[in-house]
Parts: sequence; structure tokens; C-alpha cells
Amino acid sequence: MKKNVLIIGAGGVANVAAHKCARNNDILGDICIASRTLTKCDDIIESIHRKGSLKQSAGRLQSRQLDAMDVVSLESLIRETGSQIVINVGSPFVNMSVLQACMRTGVAYMDTAIHEEQDKICEQPPWYANYEWKHRDQCREKGVTAILGVGFDPGVVNAYCAYARKHYFDRIDTIDIMDVNAGDHGRYFATNFDAEINFREFTEAVWTWVDRRWVAMPVHTEKRSYDFPVVGKQTIYLTGHDELHSLSRNIDANSVRFWMGFSAHYINCFTVLKNTGLLSEQPVRTAEGVEIVPLKVVKACLPDPASLAPDYKGKTCIGNLVKGEKDGRRTEIFIYNVCDHHACYEEVESQAISYTAGVPPVAAAILIARGTWDTKTMVNVEEVDPDPFLELLGKMGLPTSIENVSPSESA
Ligand code: NDP
Repeated sequence: MKKNVLIIGAGGVANVAAHKCARNNDILGDICIASRTLTKCDDIIESIHRKGSLKQSAGRLQSRQLDAMDVVSLESLIRETGSQIVINVGSPFVNMSVLQACMRTGVAYMDTAIHEEQDKICEQPPWYANYEWKHRDQCREKGVTAILGVGFDPGVVNAYCAYARKHYFDRIDTIDIMDVNAGDHGRYFATNFDAEINFREFTEAVWTWVDRRWVAMPVHTEKRSYDFPVVGKQTIYLTGHDELHSLSRNIDANSVRFWMGFSAHYINCFTVLKNTGLLSEQPVRTAEGVEIVPLKVVKACLPDPASLAPDYKGKTCIGNLVKGEKDGRRTEIFIYNVCDHHACYEEVESQAISYTAGVPPVAAAILIARGTWDTKTMVNVEEVDPDPFLELLGKMGLPTSIENVSPSESA
């Protein structure tokens, strides 16, 4: 049985993952939180103690300063802590070095976002083929378990696709993944997770999978309104997203699209920042001769996503509208989760975006520890059995609901 977890990163998602590992340390064993800024790791440990999250109080909970781009340091930390499971919730720039260290030490790897290179955005699909999938054969040969993109989206929504295919459909026509945050953080403008990564998702053309081919279009050009359970009618925009790059290959459907909810205020701020060049990932030189990356400056000026948590009110709703056929009859379902910002803060001192992304990798870690998901090869979430995962998530704070949708409601 695999034991002892190393968490990479100390942001909002890592905070949630660390709390949930602590609550399950009878199964997961020792926990080490390692990130660039040691004080942030120590803040998480304090939060765990404040909330009484450590299930077995004798269990080891420690922090380390680490540059996760440094494979050699990563390898020695994995060995020193005896970690057999690595939860990478640092920035997506570190995916390849963390994966490399896991392959070299033979321990299980997981992340919650597709790998990114600093100087490239919105890469050619399928994006996974440019980085992670190049190491699939090596993982299989070495028997290394690697679960890619196991946050909420990507992550749970991939499991929703597999669950729909397994239990509800003989044939799937379309899948629309819809992510809405109907919460309010009370700040003028902020992103809910790493601003740099968040903006990079939307500053170029968005890739989407339509009629079994990739289509590129400018961001925020197609929108619709959808009446969601609990959070009601919301405006959502067609965007590109990580999960499309694996679902297009692993799920037999004509179209898989991703929609995200944005307020008119958000779109306005985003458009001004983008059109003035402030979201560019390419360096510029100031009149004083200082080279800066505008996007990194914007990130430094915006609120730290983790700091939004105490005042956040409202709920998120993320789910998949799946259309197809079962037993010769047209079928449509919406499979989703609703998560409350304030309830998350009460439980683990994080907001719901961090919570929905931070709980799933810990559920996956438990399934790896139990052997249920110890795949001994590299997989995306839709390639493994969704049943134990969704069942465990329900117990860990992310319950799944399923509604039958009448065709008129989903038009
Ligand atoms: P944050 O920016 O709050 O945290 C990222 C953490 O990674 C920071 O603590 C940062 O350190 C650390 N880090 C960055 N580079 C390095 C490095 N080279 N070495 C060590 N540590 C490093 O982001 P979030 O917590 O909001 O998000 C974490 C991850 O989760 C991201 O990859 C994000 O894309 C993903 N995500 C996935 C979602 C999903 O549903 N699938 C949803 C939301 C997020 P420092 O504190 O020093 O800056």
C-alpha cells in the first residue's frame, strides 16, 4: 500500500489538499508541504492545527522550501520524506520537472492542470501530446502511476464523462462542460486561482472540439445563457480548457465544449487589460531599461486568490450537460456539483474554487493508496473507473447530483 504524501505548492489549492490529507492521515501517512515560499507552507500547517484537521495527531506534518524546477532536489526530498505519492498543485510550469522526479524515484504522480511553458500560450491540440503524453510509455515500462488533471475541471468533469458513458448512454452526441462561479468576493477585480495561469487560458484563440475536429476561435465570441440548478440563470462563454485535449481522444462523442461564466464587469476589465497589452506573456522593456513581463506585473498587483476566502459568499456550480441515446431513446442529463464558498472557508479556510480543485487529488491519492486507482501507468481521469472516485468525493465534501434534462430546457 502506497503511503506518505508530498504536496508541491502552497497556494489555495494546496491548502485544501493539505487539510484533506491531514483528515485522512490514517490512510495517507506522513505529509510534507514543499513550495517556493516556506512561510506559505507553514501558514498551511498552522491552519491545519487551528481547524483540528489532523486525524492522527502523532502523524508527521512538515514543510520544506523547494524550487520544483530542480529535479535533483525534488528527488532527494521524495527520498528523504519517504513519499510514495506526490500531489503537484504548484504552478503548471513545474509539471514536467515534478513528473521527471516521480519517474526517477518510482512514486505516484498527479496534477490538476496541463503543463505550460512560460513563453507559449494556447498550444496546438491535443496539448497533452506536447508534454505529458510523451512520457506515457516510460511510466508504463517503469510501472509509475501518473494521474493527469485530477482537479475539478480538469478532473471531476472528466469522471462525469466516464460516469455518463458507463451508466447513462449507449451513444454520446455532445458534452458541454459548464463552470459557473455565482459567488462574490467583494473586491474590484480578482481571479480565483493563479492570475497568470488564469489569464493565459483566455488571451489567445480558444480550441474547442466540434464535430470531431478542432476548431479555433477568438475568446469570448460565443455566449449563451443557461439556467443552472441552485445558482439560476447565468451567462457562459465558450472557451478552451485542458480537459478537451484528453476527452477528445478518450471519450467517443461528436463534440466536447467548455463554457465558463463571466460577469459583464469581469469581461470589461479583462478586455481593457488584454487590449492594452497588459496580459502579454512576452517581456517588454521600460523606458528605464528594465525588462518586465506585463502579465507577471498584473498578477503581482491583483489580490492573492487565497486572500479572497474569508469574505467570499455564494456558490459555484460546475457540471456536464450530456446528450445522446440510451436504449433507442434520446437522453439528456446534467451531472454536477454545487459548492458553497463560505462552507469551504469554515471547513478549511479556503474558497470554493480552491476547494473543488484541492479535494479531488486527495480522493485520488486515497484510491491509489488503497490500490483501486494504482494504475501503474499514465492516465487521464476519464480512463479510470469513475464510480469509486465519485463515491469518495461525495463523502469528502463534493457530492454529485444528476438531473434529467428535457430538450427544451437545454436548448
Ligand atoms: P497559487 O498561485 O495560489 O499557488 C501555486 C503555488 O505553487 C504557490 O505557492 C507557488 O509558490 C508555488 N510554486 C510556483 N512555482 C514554484 C516552483 N518553481 N517551485 C515551488 N513552488 C512553486 O495557485 P492555486 O493554488 O490557485 O492553483 C494551484 C494549481 O491548481 C495551478 O496549477 C492551477 O492551474 C490549478 N488549478 C486547477 C483547477 C482545477 O479544477 N483543475 C482549479 C484551480 C486551480 P509562491 O507561493 O512562492 O508563489
